[in-house]
Amino acid sequence: MRCPFCGNVDTQVKDSRPAEDHVSIRRRRFCPACGGRFTTYERVQLRDLVVIKTNGRREDFDRDKLERSIRIAMQKRPVEPERIDQMISGIVRRLESMGETDIPSKQIGEIVMEALARIDTVAFVRFASVYKNFQEADDFDKFVSELRPAAQPDK
Ligand SMILES: [Zn+2]
Repeated sequence: MRCPFCGNVDTQVKDSRPAEDHVSIRRRRFCPACGGRFTTYERVQLRDLVVIKTNGRREDFDRDKLERSIRIAMQKRPVEPERIDQMISGIVRRLESMGETDIPSKQIGEIVMEALARIDTVAFVRFASVYKNFQEADDFDKFVSELRPAAQPDK
C-alpha cells in the first residue's frame, strides 16, 4: 500500500483487527521512509460493478478507464492531483453505493459530469462536449481520442 504522505510503496502493517462493525479489517500501517502512519480498511466486495452500454452490451467497470478520461479532461487545469484523486474515489464510491451492480454507462457519465462541474468548469465543458458523441458511438477509445485534442488546444 502506497504511503499517502511520501508515495513510498514499501509500507508495513503494524496491526490488523476487525473494525467494530466486523465487516471490515482495520490495518494500521507505517511508512519506514517518512515515518508516516495511516490506516486502511479491507472489506469484501461481493460483486464487481458492470457497465451496461447504450447498445445493451455489458462490460466490467474499469476504474482505470474512468480515471484516464477524467485526467485527460483535467489536463493543464489548475487543480491539484490530490483533488482529482479524491474526486475519482468519490465517483467510484458513489457508484458502489448505488445498490445496483449493473449501472448504465449513461448514468456513470452523468455522475462524472456532475463531479467535474463542481471542480472545474473548463474540464466539465471538455468532457460534456465529447460525451454526447460518446453516447452515440459508445466506444471508449473513440471517446478518449476525441477528448484529447480538445484538451490540448495549443497543438
Ligand atoms: Zn511515507
